Amino acid sequence: MNILITGGAGFVGINLVKTLIDEGHSVICLDNFHSGRKENFSFIQETSNFKSITHDIRKPLDISENIDQIYHLACPASPKFYQADPIYTTETCVLGSLNVLNFAIKKNASVLFTSTSEVYGDPEVHPQPESYRGSVNSTGIRACYDEGKRCAESLFYDFHRIYNLDVKVARLFNTYGPMMRPDDGRVISNFICQSILNKPITIYGDGLQTRSFCHVNDLILGLKNLMNCNEEISHPINLGNPDEFTLLELVDLIEKLINTKLKLKFLPLPLDDPKMRKPDISMAKKILGWEPKILLEKGLKDTYNYFQSEL
Ligand code: UDP
Repeated sequence: MNILITGGAGFVGINLVKTLIDEGHSVICLDNFHSGRKENFSFIQETSNFKSITHDIRKPLDISENIDQIYHLACPASPKFYQADPIYTTETCVLGSLNVLNFAIKKNASVLFTSTSEVYGDPEVHPQPESYRGSVNSTGIRACYDEGKRCAESLFYDFHRIYNLDVKVARLFNTYGPMMRPDDGRVISNFICQSILNKPITIYGDGLQTRSFCHVNDLILGLKNLMNCNEEISHPINLGNPDEFTLLELVDLIEKLINTKLKLKFLPLPLDDPKMRKPDISMAKKILGWEPKILLEKGLKDTYNYFQSEL
């Protein structure tokens, strides 16, 4: 198949590119390297089945090749990166999705959009099912991403209703694993890099907030299952690992992994930081037959090894 991946040089993107090339597909990666990295291409094998196009998704797409499937990932995804230029983030979410959707119509391609658990904001419902409409502060510092993704979701379903376009929407929860940027600013990359560099572990707030971490290999399987699902799915699907941890528990796991006591540095909690997050994945289990398999203890180990070789 000919597959286009927008944001293919980012963390999830490059893992997906690698998997699809290994499976024998022809892959075109579109990225403007705003948060994605050219260095990530060194992780994929040299092949004529891969092409990289430098393009800002806020501008219309013009690609001559036939395209069967589009995975639309392009957008800075870590709070550090998406808050650095919030107007760019909103434009990327909204204009980027419009451009991808119009292009999908031209090519008669199926399109999968990676939305986010951020559409649930600081949730009052726990765990979060897809039917929960969320609690987003629409004017806060996370709104560029949260509302941008919410608006993009609405565009996807409007294009389906109006043009009968084959659309799939995945809501990704916290994901980690090899090929993350060391300077991503996210909790797992920060904690592991700090532990490798003998720096204190920066805990924002009291460390009792929770997250549920999905290994990227599990996520990629979920994305592929969703894209290739023949059933018409008229709603987004949560993709994440339902095992929930406080950040202090995460520190414990890293300490056990490296058999060292880490020094902690407590810093103020960023504004609108969700207090808890855990996906309800019953839909993904039922419709896609998917659930994550990689335990955090095990996933942290290969992520640690990756960062050790990167730093
Ligand atoms: N966090 C932290 N220390 C760090 C980075 C993040 O305590 O060095 C916290 C952050 O405030 C949040 C959680 O870890 O409560 C997850 O943050 P991340 O940026 O990974 O993703 P989020 O789930 O907030 O989008």
